Amino acid sequence: MSDRLSTSELSKALKNAAVKLGFEACGISTATELTNEKSRLQEWLNRGNHASMGWMENHFEKRVDPRNLVEGAKSVVSVIQSYYHPFEPTDNPSIGRVSRYAWGDDYHLVMKKKLFALLEWLNENAGGANGRVFVDSAPMMDKVWAAKAGLGWIGKHTNLISEQHGSWFFIGELVVDVELDPDQPVLDHCGSCTRCLDACPTNAITEPYVVDANLCISYLTIEHRGPDLPQDVADKHGNWIFGCDICQEVCPWNKFKTESQESRYLPREGVLDTDLQTWSELSQEEFSEYFRQSAVKRTKLDGLTRNVHYAQMNARSKAPDAT
Ligand code: SF4
Ligand code: SF4
Repeated sequence: MSDRLSTSELSKALKNAAVKLGFEACGISTATELTNEKSRLQEWLNRGNHASMGWMENHFEKRVDPRNLVEGAKSVVSVIQSYYHPFEPTDNPSIGRVSRYAWGDDYHLVMKKKLFALLEWLNENAGGANGRVFVDSAPMMDKVWAAKAGLGWIGKHTNLISEQHGSWFFIGELVVDVELDPDQPVLDHCGSCTRCLDACPTNAITEPYVVDANLCISYLTIEHRGPDLPQDVADKHGNWIFGCDICQEVCPWNKFKTESQESRYLPREGVLDTDLQTWSELSQEEFSEYFRQSAVKRTKLDGLTRNVHYAQMNARSKAPDAT
């Protein structure tokens, strides 16, 4: 009798291995074409909601079917890892705010290492496994795959929400040529709630489940290149200098947030309480040193300085003697 694990045993053991590696949860989907999401993505792109992220139009066929990314792909294994550490940002408008996910070390580096370890585990226990690791690094619709795998639902703010873990987590995937037992999606629990739509300062959630990147502070402060932010958004972005967490902060499901087990996501010194004036004076050397191994590097010093400049104008307009 073979001692090879059955598909169901292997799938269960894989999820246990993922949790042992430090992921909060792991779910499985069959690698296939994303038929419904394909038309939704095309419509979103046609409306220009991706703003200047032209790369989102590239590799469309790969983005909607992982079998075009990995030859012989049979399964997509999705994982989530919490980045929530119980520190609260100040509401002082003269302090620059950085999105919670970027307080510590760059998740790409941390997650990839763990996912390669999971792939190695699968290779050893499935009698061979070929595949690829994805962390925001290729045309993969990570939230869609995680939702298909039952790890949560995509909320009206378009982030994935888990009943057990809220939404302060990263998502990663393996696409593998191993047959595994797929999980079932969970129900959408947004119900009649509209807190994220009501709280978004720029009305970037143009309708439930649709975010227009042209209006989103997160997109504009991270991905947008150039010396200026669009004025009608810039004067509403408050003191955010990298990203924006407002729609997740107001989401009632984040009362189920899970504290991260990963110390590399702890806030680096100064990231929660540095004033805008100090941020504005950062030299290239200081920026490179301070944000070594940080996702903030993505916006480069020019982008950060631009964001700080607008945040300073917003802070001045909020000052008690502002006219
Ligand atoms: S990240 Fe900020 S700007 Fe973007 S949709 Fe959420 S609340 Fe609105
Ligand atoms: S704030 Fe409400 S509507 Fe928005 S994602 Fe959370 S539960 Fe859904």
